[in-house]
Amino acid sequence: MSAPTIGVLALQGDVREHLRMLAAAGATGVSVRRPSELAAVDGMIVPGGESTTMHKLAVVFEMFEPLRERIASGMPTFGTCAGMIMLADRIEGGMAGQETFGGIDMTVRRNAFGRQVDSFEADVAFGSLPETLHAVFIRAPWVEKVGNRTEVLATVRGGVGDGRIVAVRQGHLVATSFHPEISGDDRVHRYFVDMVR
Ligand code: GLN
Repeated sequence: MSAPTIGVLALQGDVREHLRMLAAAGATGVSVRRPSELAAVDGMIVPGGESTTMHKLAVVFEMFEPLRERIASGMPTFGTCAGMIMLADRIEGGMAGQETFGGIDMTVRRNAFGRQVDSFEADVAFGSLPETLHAVFIRAPWVEKVGNRTEVLATVRGGVGDGRIVAVRQGHLVATSFHPEISGDDRVHRYFVDMVR
């Protein structure tokens, strides 16, 4: 599989930026809105947006169960921001009735960095990448707690949220609080494309 086909869940959120990054990272990116489209991909990205809305739309488009099942049965999936929330087994600060696809044994707090800092940028070390990433956070969640199978890939250093976990991996699943698709740096997408390969 030299160029895997990777879907971007296109119900809501920043789909186009992810498609562009996937192409840069050597994958074929496609928008996914229907179960038949989901069936044709090797991996998925769940983008940023609004997790409450994404949950509702996934139910309406009859994507919620099919995607939950593919994630549970081992399809490589990458969630960014709201997408991280969607991959969490547990959330704090969710709306009544808000559900996630789940898969990563972690508790994620929505809008965690507080009102003063709706958006901010920070340089973070990511996994074993040799140089830090410039990470953009937009009303971002942080990871409150991880289970023992979950590997921490990045934490914030200094400022608001000092020491908070902002990227994790558990087997075939990876999630970031920040938005690597808008940084102009395709290293996180490359990391994911390599996982799918
Ligand atoms: N605050 C949003 C949510 O709770 C996530 C924000 C984002 O994806 N940029 O879903």
